[in-house]
Amino acid sequence: MSGITRPRGTQDLLPDGSPKLEVQFSARGHRHLVELAARVLENAGAQYIQTPMFEMVEVIKRGVGDSTDIVRKEMFTAKAQSDEFILRPEGTAPIVRAFVQNGLKQLPSPAKLWTFGAMFRAERPQKGRYRQFHQLDYEVLGSDDPLVDAEAIALMMQVIDRLGVKKIELKLGSVGDPEDRVQYNQYLRDLFTPHAERLSEDSKDRLVLNPMRILDSKSEGDQQIIAELQPKMMLDHLGEGASAHFQQVCAYLTAWGIPFTVDPSIVRGLDYYRRTAWEIHHEGVGAKSALGGGGRYDGLAELLGGPHTPGIGWAFGIERLLIAMDAEGVKLPEPEGLLLYVGALEEAALGQAAQLAFGARSLGKADFSYKAKAPGKQIQDALKKNARFVALIGSSEMEQGVVTLKNLSTGEQSTIPQTDLLSKLQ
Ligand code: AMP
Repeated sequence: MSGITRPRGTQDLLPDGSPKLEVQFSARGHRHLVELAARVLENAGAQYIQTPMFEMVEVIKRGVGDSTDIVRKEMFTAKAQSDEFILRPEGTAPIVRAFVQNGLKQLPSPAKLWTFGAMFRAERPQKGRYRQFHQLDYEVLGSDDPLVDAEAIALMMQVIDRLGVKKIELKLGSVGDPEDRVQYNQYLRDLFTPHAERLSEDSKDRLVLNPMRILDSKSEGDQQIIAELQPKMMLDHLGEGASAHFQQVCAYLTAWGIPFTVDPSIVRGLDYYRRTAWEIHHEGVGAKSALGGGGRYDGLAELLGGPHTPGIGWAFGIERLLIAMDAEGVKLPEPEGLLLYVGALEEAALGQAAQLAFGARSLGKADFSYKAKAPGKQIQDALKKNARFVALIGSSEMEQGVVTLKNLSTGEQSTIPQTDLLSKLQ
C-alpha cells in the first residue's frame, strides 16, 4: 500500500467476514447499537437530531470549558480559507448550540433529543481510546426535575440491559450548585497550595483555573499527593438544594431497582455542570475508562448565548460498548438470511433471474446468481447464503412464464407462474 494508510487513532468500520475483524470496529456492530439505542430512546419520546461534524471554535471552548484537556490539548482544528473550525469532540455543546440557534425552546418541554456519530479528540491512541470514535448521545433540555435525571440514567441502563451486557457499575455523584463549588474549590486551593511545587504542570494550572480537576488528574504524582491529603469530596460540600435533588435522584433509582454506588470522587469540574453526574464502568474496558457518563448542565445554554435552559445528558462510547459485549461473550444478532435466491440454469435466463430477485426485494433480502449453473449447484449456493427459498429458471421456464420454487427448510418444491412468485413468498 506504499505508506498510504488511515491516520493513527482512526479505524475503518468493516463488514462481516473481513480478515481480523475486531468486534469494536464491526460496522454491523455499530449499526446494531445505534438501532437498538434509537428504539429505546425513541420509545421514551426522544427525537433524533444531527449537528455538523465541525463547529466554531468558540462553541467548544465555551461549551466544553477552557480548562479541560479536550480544549487545552486534544482539539482537532480544521481550516478553510481564513476560517478556523473545530471537529466536534463531543455531542452536548453542539446540540445545545443547535437548540439555542434554532429556537427549539418552542418544542414541548422538556425536549428529549438523541444523536450518534463520530467525535474527534487528538488523544494518544490506545485500546478503547481513539482520535476518531463514535458516541451515542441523549440530551434533555428544559427541566431540572430530579425525575428527568433519574429517567436519563434509567434509559442508559436500559440500553445496556437490551444489549445483554451485565458486569457494569453505575457510579453516581453530584457536583453541587455553582455556589457550592466556589466554596469547595477554595477549600481545595487552600489544601493543595502548600504542595503546589510537587503537582504536575497541568495540575499547577488547575490549581489556579479549576482545582476540582486536580482530583481527576491522570498523573501518578498528583494521585499520590491526593492520597496523602485525603481531601473531603464535593459530595460533602453540597448545599441544601443540591443535596435534596441528589437524594431524590437516588430515591427514584432505588425505587426502580437500578443498582448504583454513590461515588463522591466523580468530578465534572466545568463551570456549567450542576448537580447530578455519573459514569458507567465495565471491567472489560478497564478501571480508568468509562463505558459512558453523563451529567446535568443547567448553565450551558446561557454560556452559548441562549436563555436559561436547564439540561442533562449522557454519552456512550460505541467502541467501548462493543468491547464490553465482547468481553462478556455477548454476540451480535445474526444477520438475517436471504428470503430468496434466484439461480439461472442457462445464460439466456440470467437477466430474467436478476429481475425476479429485484421484484422480491420489495419483500425482503433477495439475491441472484451472476452465472448460469446446474440446479444442484444453484441450490448449494442458496444454502450458503442462508436463503429460505430458491427459484430456478431456465429457457423452458422462460417460455412458459413459470419458475421452479423450492422451500429450503421444508424441501417442498413446485412450479408456479412467475406472476405468483411474490404472493407465494409472502
Ligand atoms: P466524555 O464525553 O469524555 O464523557 O466521554 C463519553 C464516553 O465517550 C466515554 O465514556 C467513552 O466511552 C467515550 N470516549 C471518550 N473519549 C474517547 C476516545 N478517545 N476513544 C474512544 N471512546 C471515547
